[in-house]
Amino acid sequence: MSTLEKASGSALDAAARPTPSARLPLEWQLLGPARARVEELWRLQASGCLPPALLFVGPRGVGKFMAARVFAMGLVCEQSGAASSFFPCGSCGACKRVLSDQHPDLFVLDAAADGEQNIKLERIVARGDTTGPTVEEFLSLRSAEGRFKVLLLREIERSDHGQLEVQNALLKLLEEPRPGVLWVLESSAPQRLLDTVRSRLVPVVFARLSNADFGAWMAAQGLDLDPNLARWARGSPGRAMELQQCGAKLLRPLIAGTLDGSLDALQAARAVLAIDLAAESTARGEPKGTRRSGKAKAKPASELSLARQRARAALELALEVVSDLVRGHAGVDQATLVHMDLELAAVPWRADSAWYQTRLDALLRAASQLEHNVDPTLALECAWLALAPEQASRVGA
Ligand SMILES: [Zn+2]
Repeated sequence: MSTLEKASGSALDAAARPTPSARLPLEWQLLGPARARVEELWRLQASGCLPPALLFVGPRGVGKFMAARVFAMGLVCEQSGAASSFFPCGSCGACKRVLSDQHPDLFVLDAAADGEQNIKLERIVARGDTTGPTVEEFLSLRSAEGRFKVLLLREIERSDHGQLEVQNALLKLLEEPRPGVLWVLESSAPQRLLDTVRSRLVPVVFARLSNADFGAWMAAQGLDLDPNLARWARGSPGRAMELQQCGAKLLRPLIAGTLDGSLDALQAARAVLAIDLAAESTARGEPKGTRRSGKAKAKPASELSLARQRARAALELALEVVSDLVRGHAGVDQATLVHMDLELAAVPWRADSAWYQTRLDALLRAASQLEHNVDPTLALECAWLALAPEQASRVGA
C-alpha cells in the first residue's frame, strides 16, 4: 500500500479544472493530482484490493474531503466501471441522489457543518438523547441500492479533547468488518487520533497545491483573490478562502502592532472582534450535496459564535505569524516564510526561544479554551496581552 502513502496528491475543496469526461458540477471536480489519487483507489477497488477503512490525511483546506466525496460517488454510481472509467457520471440516479443529499447508502458525519464543536457520541451510537441516524444504525442496515455503503467522517480529530469515548466507540465499530462497507475518515491532525484507531486505517496522503495548481484553481473559480492570500495560504485553497473570509488583511496589522508594542493589546483585541466581515456569512466554499449525519443544517450563527469564529481565526493567524518568526529566528530560509514582510521592529530577534515559546503557548492555550467554550472575548484578550512586549523590553528592544 506504499503508493497510497506517497505525499504527491492534491485536491480542491471547492472547484478545479473542468474535466470533460465528467458531468459533475464544477465544484465537485478535482485537480489532476487529487483525481489521480482517487482513480488509484478506484482501480484498487476494481481489483478487489481496496482496504475497508481509509484515512485521508494532509493539510487543512487542500481538498481531502471533496476527494472523499467524489471517491464515494464513484463507488455508488450506476455507470461506474463502464468503459474502464470509475469516474462518477454525475447524471445517473445514484449520482443525482448523492448530489442532492439524498443517497441512502452514503452517511456523512461533518460536525462543523452540523454546527457542532466536536463529534458527538450520540452521532456514533444511539443514546438517550439521539435524535438522528447513527453510524451504528447505518452499519446495521442493508445496502439500499446494492452497491457500496460508504461512511465519510470529516475532521475526525474533532473527537478528541476528553472525548475518548467517541474514538473508542468508532474503534469498536471499525473492528467489526462488514462486506460492502467502506470507511473514509478525513483529518488534518491524525496525531490526535488514538493509535488503536489510526492503526485500523490505511493513510491516503494529500499534499498542498503547487503554485500552478493553485493558479488553476483560482482561474476555475473565477476568483480575484489578493495574491497575498495565495501566498499566506501556502498551497491550501480552503485556507485561502478562510483568510479572505476572516479579514486577514485587516487582522495582520493588529497582530503585528500587538507583537511590536505599537498598539495597545486590549484595544487591538477588541478591534479584532470588531472587524467588519461582510463576507463571513458565505459558506466555506463547500459544494452542495451528500447527506449530513441526519441532523438539521447548521443554525444561523449567534453573536457569540461569530465572536468565537473571529477569535479562532485571529488566534490561528497569530500562530502562523509567530511560527514564522520562530522559524526565521531559527535560521529557516526566509523565502519559505510568508509573514516576514510584517514590520516587527520591536520583536527581539536575538531573544532566547523562551520569548517565542511564551507567545505560542498563550495562543495555543487560548485556542484550546475556545474549544472548551470559554468566552471568546476573554480568551482573545488574554492571548493578546501575552503577545505584547513586556514593559522592560518595549523601549529600544
Ligand atoms: Zn453516476
